[in-house]
Amino acid sequence: MEQNIIDNNKIMDMLNKDIDTSSSHIDGIIQKARELNGIDSNEVLSLLKTDDKDLINKIYDTAKYIKQTIYGNRLVLFAPLYISNLCTNECLYCAFRSSNKTLVRKALGQDAIRNETKELLRQGHKRVLLVAGESYPKEGLEYVFESIKTVYDTNLDKHNIRRVNINIAPLSVDEFTKLAKYNIGTYQLFQETYHEETYKKLHIGGLKKDYGYRMHGMDRAFMGGIKDVGVGVLFGLYDYKYEILALLEHIKYLEREFGIGVHTISMPRIEPALGSDISMSPPFDISDDDFKKIIAVLRIAVPYTGLILSTRENAKMRTDAFELGISQISAGSRTNPGGYTHEEDSEGDNNVGKESQFSLGDHRSLHEVIEDVTAHNHIPSFCTGCYRLGRVGKDFMDLAKPGLIKAHCLPNAIFTYAEYLHDFADDSLKQKGFELIDKMIDSDIENEKTKKDIRANLAEIENGKRDIYY
Ligand code: SAM
Ligand code: SF4
Repeated sequence: MEQNIIDNNKIMDMLNKDIDTSSSHIDGIIQKARELNGIDSNEVLSLLKTDDKDLINKIYDTAKYIKQTIYGNRLVLFAPLYISNLCTNECLYCAFRSSNKTLVRKALGQDAIRNETKELLRQGHKRVLLVAGESYPKEGLEYVFESIKTVYDTNLDKHNIRRVNINIAPLSVDEFTKLAKYNIGTYQLFQETYHEETYKKLHIGGLKKDYGYRMHGMDRAFMGGIKDVGVGVLFGLYDYKYEILALLEHIKYLEREFGIGVHTISMPRIEPALGSDISMSPPFDISDDDFKKIIAVLRIAVPYTGLILSTRENAKMRTDAFELGISQISAGSRTNPGGYTHEEDSEGDNNVGKESQFSLGDHRSLHEVIEDVTAHNHIPSFCTGCYRLGRVGKDFMDLAKPGLIKAHCLPNAIFTYAEYLHDFADDSLKQKGFELIDKMIDSDIENEKTKKDIRANLAEIENGKRDIYY
């Protein structure tokens, strides 16, 4: 295993040298990108350094083309489920950090987790991202395992959560081996900043201080048998161009060492957090325009990787972003443990709740987000087909790379959306939703037999059948 995944000097040299941003060069990169094989780091940098409006629009169009060609017009929805805000680390941007005495601490018991899950099921969710700070009640990691089990075991009428992704602190190989047995979806871990010097200044206490231990977290996850991993950067801590070049190095490293790419990339921007000055004025604040460029360039650079945007962003940015290549979004989120069943605890001064990790930019309910996604001609998807059929890790990439995943994504998105419309939507959304589904089957599904199959399955769903997937 390589010790240094990120070569700081190499990235600094790349950032400091002159780079071609002429329109002929950018046009060449865009042409190459349309072949869906990604682009190299120098080409990524050329795109990131472009500030010509026309060229940026071409970059946006290319990102949209890639997203639609690979995944089709669908957007996967999920909700974070914060089980605990206990934490022994000192990340200066986070309200959960151990020295923050203003935060009200809480670790949900299993009954409370069951109630939160029921509330998410009542809203129509099927996919959950389980989140916790780095400190667990007395049961230790067993607390997390028990919580995963509780979420999967909870039912509301005929509804249940079909995929639990996890965002918790990195584990040892042995611990990951245990976690892998709990049928989790993706294990997410964000490096926050890949710039070691900045990392050390911002993580000043607890196990997370160790940059190298976190950097090699995904190695241990793969060694422990986790099949899908999701990486991320907390944008605003350091120069975004550095972060993107380093993130791509990290992905290449994992492909080299383990033969598997990463399943998702998350791209949080820092949001105001209780008792954190840094979160109120991030050292490398990122403008909306730069943020959109980051999304589009990542979609072009790693066409087969899911891109996740959370409710940290406001409604307008989220709508713009799914045109640029975002493939998954959270909706109706709360960042405080118990926030779905105790709404009142999510509110606070400046919108930063006294138990919450950070404030939200998008306060719309799942229903409102789905209305908006529908109005923008995207199918809201709760699909968990790949994971349930074992199409994970390398098997997923083998299907995604020749462009075959769309044949699963779009029908599965349609089935799960039809379920939502029957079970949770009002009449107005039902009408708009089924119209969109009809339009999509006609325009986006080429094969006549597939069209017929989809219509037959939709009739079964109307008659009460649930959980159909290819
Ligand atoms: N405690 C674990 C860890 O740090 O890896 C996992 C969960 S942590 C609650 C999830 C993520 O929240 C962190 O990785 C960080 O990127 C993000 N985060 C922390 N403070 C934030 C803030 N003020 N605004 C936006 N995201 C934040
Ligand atoms: Fe704890 Fe994670 Fe927040 Fe850091 S980011 S203080 S580790 S919850």
